[in-house]
Amino acid sequence: MHGIWEEFLTIVKQEAGSHIVETWFKAVSFEQWEARTNTAVLMMPNIFVSNWIQKHYITLIKTHLSRLLHTTSIKIFFTCKNDNDSYKHTIRPASLIPNKSFIALEKSDISLVKSTQSAPLTTIEKKSTSLTQLPRKTTRLETTKLNERYTFNTFVVGPTNELAHAAAITVSHNIGKVYNPLFIYGGTGLGKTHLLHAIGNELKSTNPEATICYATSDTFVNEFINAIKSDKTRNFREKYQKVDLLLLDDIQFFSHKEQTQETFFHIFDALHGRQKQVVFSSDTLPQNILGLQGRLQSRLQCGLVADVQMPTLEMKIAILKKKAQAQGLTLEHDILRSIAEQPAKSIRELEGYLMRLAAFSAISHQPINIDTIKKIIVNTHQQRPQTITIDAIIKSVARHFNIAIADIKSKQRTKQIVLCRQIACYLMKKHTPHSLQAIGETLGGKDHTTIIHALTKIEKLIHQDQILADKIELIQKHFYQN
Ligand code: ADP
Ligand code: MG
Repeated sequence: MHGIWEEFLTIVKQEAGSHIVETWFKAVSFEQWEARTNTAVLMMPNIFVSNWIQKHYITLIKTHLSRLLHTTSIKIFFTCKNDNDSYKHTIRPASLIPNKSFIALEKSDISLVKSTQSAPLTTIEKKSTSLTQLPRKTTRLETTKLNERYTFNTFVVGPTNELAHAAAITVSHNIGKVYNPLFIYGGTGLGKTHLLHAIGNELKSTNPEATICYATSDTFVNEFINAIKSDKTRNFREKYQKVDLLLLDDIQFFSHKEQTQETFFHIFDALHGRQKQVVFSSDTLPQNILGLQGRLQSRLQCGLVADVQMPTLEMKIAILKKKAQAQGLTLEHDILRSIAEQPAKSIRELEGYLMRLAAFSAISHQPINIDTIKKIIVNTHQQRPQTITIDAIIKSVARHFNIAIADIKSKQRTKQIVLCRQIACYLMKKHTPHSLQAIGETLGGKDHTTIIHALTKIEKLIHQDQILADKIELIQKHFYQN
């Protein structure tokens, strides 16, 4: 059996690529072969892998195993190592053999495979995020708030992000138990941050008591530097070590930050050891992050590594539809399609087009139609800067609040100027790739602490003060009109 399985893996490697073997088949074993009934039993490391393999590779398995085993009507049974673990199958009872969580996959059972396709993730019990295991009393963490708009409901799933999405949902319902850590990687503006927040929001809704911490790696690094300065590294470590779920965004920023990596390594091990969940995002694979300690690199990839890629046209249309609806816009399919067909390197860029159109339509009182799209997007591809600069942000904020650009860049501390500076700071962090230090330098030589304080304050105000939130939204729309 071992030899046959090895042969099978070689074929999968040739047909689907070695990364598929590494991610999905490495931990699977060929447990049993019963020639009399033509039945092969495959042992899966967990139900998530089991569902994924059934959904994506069942034909591959059937075709090649039956050939290797010289049979034409092979039956495959899937079983899981952790059947008796805390998370259990809830696969349709008809497919269960009494006392054994085997899933029969015969020809007549193909419908079962299909039916699990639409909701493969419900097969892991939601309740398994045991409330008793998480602390009842939580201490509020002073980290960035979760963005309530970034949920699984508002996330469009398709072939380019299916694995990351499936893993994210599974993890949010099985904190610390399925894949720990989960590592989501992909280019900028493709939904990583959205998924991280969605995991947090999902856990928050199923277990409001859970301690959830979302932090960008940038914030983490700066907070650590400040902890060193104020001799509070112990508090810093304790704060992160006591969470149930740590969502660390853009981990590539840990590159060459040796001391941070050292401290984080211990935090990670403490969390992992206590089955607390860690989710990372990055713009590259763990092994491609330069200046990262080998041992941290191996920690990052010891769970599941899943990517997000540029969506298909259908997904782009669906995303734009959701984004338009969120802004109260109803756009015809043709219009959405036409926007989706515009060249863009990320979803963020596509969203930018939509905002630009919405702003144009609101200001000019013209409907959004093919002509407007031509005028606003197509004809301006070359002319308009695709990236928003720090200067453009300062200019926009100054114009909107009617103060001088020089005042925003100055050290003046009047209330209005401070607020404008903080808004500029928030928008710079959101729309540009500049570091907190670079942002601080353009805003009158502010240090990290001041910038982090500004970001936290504006994020808090956006949740509390709708008028200010609308103003900030409007400024962002105007970026695209300059
Ligand atoms: P990243 O962190 O990968 O740079 P974000 O998560 O910030 O990207 O996503 C950029 C924008 O695109 C966000 O507004 C997000 O809501 C949106 N977005 C990305 N992927 C999807 C998706 N699959 N469905 C809906 N919105 C998406
Ligand atoms: Mg992001």
